[in-house]
Amino acid sequence: SNMLFKNAVKISHDIIKQKIANENIVLDATVGNGNDTAFLAKLVGDNGKVYGFDIQKIAIKKAKEKLKSLDLLNRVVLINDGHENIDKYITEKIDLVVFNLGYLPGGDHSIITKPETTIEATKKALKMLNSKGLIIIVVYSGHKGGMEEKNDIAKFVKELNQTKYTVIKLDFMNQINNPPSLICIEKK
Ligand code: SAM
Repeated sequence: SNMLFKNAVKISHDIIKQKIANENIVLDATVGNGNDTAFLAKLVGDNGKVYGFDIQKIAIKKAKEKLKSLDLLNRVVLINDGHENIDKYITEKIDLVVFNLGYLPGGDHSIITKPETTIEATKKALKMLNSKGLIIIVVYSGHKGGMEEKNDIAKFVKELNQTKYTVIKLDFMNQINNPPSLICIEKK
């Protein structure tokens, strides 16, 4: 549709489309149902690469099936581990990172991303990011633990050196029920 600001995920995808080029190496830090992974895999093309992490086996399994059915699995590396361990699997520089926090929709709502590991992963991703690279985080605050995570992330990104990074936050100001926000960190 033509709604520019439909929701945080839609805006994140619009931004990602402008940033990703063919052959980029990108990271989906929270694979979940694999929607973002598939979106990224299309954009990087045949010679690009997407790394995808999730702590839930079921998420990795379902995402794998989805990517296979879309004929995109050839450019995706799925890893059943926490994003706080990305440096154990990725040695290349990366161009873009997506976090879609919270719980797996349609899955176990008690398994959620946690502030400490999200921030540890973000720190590691910042180091691995290419110049002009982007980290994009969709943050949920409506579930138990969500507001704490949102606040901790905000506190962390606000302190990033402005000579090295541009940090922005997008909020839906007149929506009820804690709509997700978007945080972007662009490396200079
Ligand atoms: N981007 C996904 C999609 O398009 O379907 C949705 C992601 S869902 C909101 C959040 C996911 O993060 C869950 O599947 C959960 O298992 C995962 N998760 C929680 N902690 C994690 C961690 N430390 N490392 C990687 N994934 C984690």
